Amino acid sequence: MVDLKTLAAAELEQFIVDLGLPAYRGRQIYRWMYALGVSEFESMSDLPASLRSRLEQVAFISSLTFKKSQESSDGTIKSLYQINSGKAIETVLIPDFDSDRQPKRMTACVSSQVGCAMDCSFCATGKMGFHENLSSGEIYDQVYGINQLAIERYGKSLTNIVFMGMGEPLLNFQAVCDSVQKISSKNGLAMAPRRITISTVGLADQIKKLADQSLKTNLAVSLHAPTDKKRSSIMPVNRKAKTDLRALRSAIKYYSEKTKRRVTYEYCLFKDFNDTTEDAVQLSEIAHWVPSKVNLIMYNPVDGVRFERSDEATVHEFVRELLKRRVRVTVRKSRGTDIDAACGQLALN
Ligand code: SF4
Repeated sequence: MVDLKTLAAAELEQFIVDLGLPAYRGRQIYRWMYALGVSEFESMSDLPASLRSRLEQVAFISSLTFKKSQESSDGTIKSLYQINSGKAIETVLIPDFDSDRQPKRMTACVSSQVGCAMDCSFCATGKMGFHENLSSGEIYDQVYGINQLAIERYGKSLTNIVFMGMGEPLLNFQAVCDSVQKISSKNGLAMAPRRITISTVGLADQIKKLADQSLKTNLAVSLHAPTDKKRSSIMPVNRKAKTDLRALRSAIKYYSEKTKRRVTYEYCLFKDFNDTTEDAVQLSEIAHWVPSKVNLIMYNPVDGVRFERSDEATVHEFVRELLKRRVRVTVRKSRGTDIDAACGQLALN
């Protein structure tokens, strides 16, 4: 039995053709699954009954099982889903409101893996270790579910998607690319790829490969420290020559030249570790490798992690140093901290 949700659009059409049927039947099934969220063949009313019963014998359509959700005092909602293997993942809806409390932006933070192998020392997901890759359908279903939730709860559909939940997206490369295609397809959610951001710990070869895909998504790189010494002490990935800052620089230059897109650096501020003037100066040098912007993130507490959040005066000074050096910088508000839904906190609690 084939799970049709794991197939990319072209693979689904091929599967249908291999059954001796015309390719357009594949496109019809695709639309039912992704635009309409249907997972039973019997509901696909424009397919002949004979085709539906044939499909029942050779294929099935998996879907995530919603388990529970928690809402933060700031409106952030964390949802727990069970995937097909029985394991669980978390997905977060982050609403932004204008001054009249009207919903302005609806961002989905989605997971690409169960757990993560990257073992960044400040991250709760890293402490779980790696368990399994999600299929493109499982990634898509998170987005579909969270879009429904955004409409039901806030009356507005998703405006942005970030691959910043559990896992390292570029280690589940094909499924992530296929899910982007499903999300942006007119027979899926028809969201513009420029509204989608893929975040990576900085896997240089994979960044180059992503640049070659012409997906038109945004790239965010989790930097978190401006030198090899500091970065290696909190992010094991940096200890390897093929993924240290030199390799990252070459990959980011390649990405920038190839895609002409601005790169975002995520930089979580840790008190007395990476928040000094010297750190800001070093970070500004990295920020000028290619056109970029720096997102400063206030650290969210994780059990068993030695770091503390930088104080406000230090953050202010850090921002001033960056601005002095013509770095585009934003300070990201912490969202959903009270329900462990903020950056680096997803660990199935
Ligand atoms: S920060 Fe991202 S890459 Fe690092 S361990 Fe956590 S989920 Fe993995």
